[in-house]
Amino acid sequence: MPHPPRHLADLDLAGRRAAVTALGEKPFRADQLSRHYFARYTDTPEDMTDLPVGVRDALAGEMLPRLLTSEREMACDDGATRKMLWRLHDGALVESVLMKYPDRVTMCVSSQAGCGMGCPFCATGQAGLTRNLSTAEIVSQVVAGERALAPDGRVSNIVFMGMGEPLANYKNVIGAVHRLSDPVPSGLGISQRNLTVSTVGLVPAIRRLTEEKLTVRLAVSLHAPDDEARDELVPVNRRWKIAEVLDAAWDYAAVTGRRVSIEYALIRDVNDQAWRADLLGSLLAGHLVHVNLIPLNPTPGSKWTASRPGVQEEFVDRVAAHGVAVTVRDTRGREIDGACGQLAATVTGRSVGPASHPKPGARLLPLA
Ligand code: SAH
Ligand code: SF4
Repeated sequence: MPHPPRHLADLDLAGRRAAVTALGEKPFRADQLSRHYFARYTDTPEDMTDLPVGVRDALAGEMLPRLLTSEREMACDDGATRKMLWRLHDGALVESVLMKYPDRVTMCVSSQAGCGMGCPFCATGQAGLTRNLSTAEIVSQVVAGERALAPDGRVSNIVFMGMGEPLANYKNVIGAVHRLSDPVPSGLGISQRNLTVSTVGLVPAIRRLTEEKLTVRLAVSLHAPDDEARDELVPVNRRWKIAEVLDAAWDYAAVTGRRVSIEYALIRDVNDQAWRADLLGSLLAGHLVHVNLIPLNPTPGSKWTASRPGVQEEFVDRVAAHGVAVTVRDTRGREIDGACGQLAATVTGRSVGPASHPKPGARLLPLA
């Protein structure tokens, strides 16, 4: 079955009313189902006591098919970080990570099973693209996160930094942005300002996103300030060069008023030299921007590793000397392979890892 089953989260409220009508029910049943899903996070017919017993099963079956099956769940940081691995209807695996902080809860979601962009330092990139996720498959990850937190908390921030290149699955990702941000019962009602779409730098898609007049944050995975290094680290750079990518990013910032995040994984002796820090600072100086440095999380068998001690600090200082805001990203979930694609890789047996040899601090949780 190539396409996942249709789910109410694939449709806007008008579309859901039409679908429910086509099933022979009154349109307001779509609003009831939507409230169950987006406000109570349930797709279980028995919970839907405001629907007549005779129609619950049929409507839930048609409009709320289970899209995600929990394959594995791992926790670390004393339970503040939870990684969920999901099996989709066709067996494809994707992951999400829930990170609790004192002032917020951030959820990292996947937009594709695998990724076709081939960045050599990224676990997801090694396996290639399996398929795009549907809008509802993306939204369901967040609803599962809400269900895991309820009633004590809510997801406040969402980053499209799990598996996949969100802008290569443009339509479904934009649909998910609407479902996540539209108010209940249309969607989950999470502010667009708290959503971050991270891209490898697909210039036409960044320009298209600019036209949507959304207020989501844009993150650009730059990883190098010069085309020579970026051509290797981010192969799509051979198509759209750094200057073009940054031009599109600055236009996005100008139209939305939002500071663009520049993601930069520091890789020992590959992109962490002082001169590259200076060049990065000068490229970004004067723009509405924030640099997020990420210590490389080496993938199994990779020739690359994280920077030597002290190098990261010097890199930060040199970028900051240009008046550019720069922070080092917190490395939550490292011991459960929090970086992109790594848990899925251990389960599919493409690498040895914490499935067989848990790192200190990692523990397997029983499946719900
Ligand atoms: N495809 C999108 C979003 C998913 S990747 C993108 O590339 O932006 C999310 C972030 O994790 C990106 O910035 C990516 O470059 C980074 N990343 C991938 N593998 C990593 C690794 N092994 N160590 C550190 N960061 C990594
Ligand atoms: Fe894809 Fe992003 Fe990984 Fe590159 S870093 S392979 S774009 S998921």
